[in-house]
Amino acid sequence: MQTDRETVVIVGAGQAGAWVAITLRGLDPDRRIVLIGDEAHPPYERPPLSKAILAGKAGIESAYIRPSTFYADNRIELMLNGRVGHINRGRNRLTLDDGSTLDYGTLVLATGCRPRRLAVEGADLPQVHTLRTIADVEKIADRLKPRSRVVAIGAGFIGLEFAAVAVEAGCSVVVVDAAPHAMGRVIDRSVAEVVAAAHEGRGVDFCFSAAIERIEPDGDHAAVVLGSGKRLLADLVIVGIGAVPNTDLAEAAGLACDDGIVVNAFGRTDDPKIFAVGDVTRHFNPLLGRSLRLESWQNAQNQGIAVAKAIAGTATPYADLPWFWSDQYDTNLQIIGAPAVWDRIIWRGPPESGKFTAIYMNGERVVAGNSMNNARDIRFIKQLILNGTAVPDAALADPSTSLAQLVKG
Ligand SMILES: Cc1cc2nc3c(=O)[nH]c(=O)nc-3n(C[C@H](O)[C@H](O)[C@H](O)COP(=O)(O)OP(=O)(O)OC[C@H]3O[C@@H](n4cnc5c(N)ncnc54)[C@H](O)[C@@H]3O)c2cc1C
Repeated sequence: MQTDRETVVIVGAGQAGAWVAITLRGLDPDRRIVLIGDEAHPPYERPPLSKAILAGKAGIESAYIRPSTFYADNRIELMLNGRVGHINRGRNRLTLDDGSTLDYGTLVLATGCRPRRLAVEGADLPQVHTLRTIADVEKIADRLKPRSRVVAIGAGFIGLEFAAVAVEAGCSVVVVDAAPHAMGRVIDRSVAEVVAAAHEGRGVDFCFSAAIERIEPDGDHAAVVLGSGKRLLADLVIVGIGAVPNTDLAEAAGLACDDGIVVNAFGRTDDPKIFAVGDVTRHFNPLLGRSLRLESWQNAQNQGIAVAKAIAGTATPYADLPWFWSDQYDTNLQIIGAPAVWDRIIWRGPPESGKFTAIYMNGERVVAGNSMNNARDIRFIKQLILNGTAVPDAALADPSTSLAQLVKG
């Protein structure tokens, strides 16, 4: 019989929590593993929600990380629709919102993020939605009909992926952002302008540097009122203005938090019995030389694997160069690296061709890359970043120069 001291309880049955459970079961066939999530579905990947699933090209179950029977078959106790409300660190005890309790030997917080709310009047109108969960998609998908008017607030990845699906469904689309250009948090303005141009070419209107005054009811519609006085009538409004880490449980339990639960390279918090993983963590990345919080598929999976190894006693530090992708229309965008600074962009291939790689330089070194319909370059750019050797601009800019050769030096 397992004792509570050996029980691993994972709070949050998203991608990161699932990868802790799956990997740990592979490493330790006997350990009691409990995976608690407050959604109705078994763990799933979110990227298809704003892409193939929203477009109706893939079913919801295609996003499941493992078939729903996997967990019972592998003695992972999956508790869905269950929310943990309190951690008693002194007694190693969790209390769920239904009043039940559960004792842990090791606790993993995999609570992810929630969408940032728009703090204006009318943000709670029935036409206004966010896009993070399967439940969100189920509310939105039906409304993407030919000639529907939709407004995306936020020109980040979620807003733009949503815009692409809406255009393909025949909707008329306006994207509003407070920043002067799209994807301001992640990519260089010059690359963002190429992406925005692809949307404009398909009829999307952008309102940049725009403040939202309020959203007001207008018959069956919502009207998004901008600071300029412009009114955007909408059947559907999607708010995609970033995400906030779910640190409430950790903060109430007195764990160190700083826009995320602070963890070391093994995912350990400042309590040796408690780990954290995925979107909710702030961790030190030795490859970048700084701490950061990532919202990415790669981080959720690989940090989850690293945490499971640490729990199983085969610890290997988590260190990935951040990688992210986005699909909009027929365009695949890939991003490698997360530089704090760069001083110029080198274009490998003409941007207007829709197939290129933008290489971010700092001095003589490559610090990041964005490929558009050119994913093959990404693994070489990754290697150039990791090598840290000086690379001449002219060689990088010339598509006939092999990146593989530049990697070899
Ligand atoms: C629409 C969308 C598209 C995306 N596309 C991409 C992409 O193209 N490429 C990419 O790299 N990344 C993408 N991402 C990001 C990626 O999906 C996330 O980084 C990843 O899902 C993070 O996984 P996680 O397990 O850390 O957090 P989450 O997926 O947020 O899972 C956390 C889970 O914990 C639950 N929870 C929270 N608190 C409690 C509690 N107290 N008790 C019980 N359960 C709780 C939450 O409800 C949630 O189910 C996308 C994200 C979204 C939303």
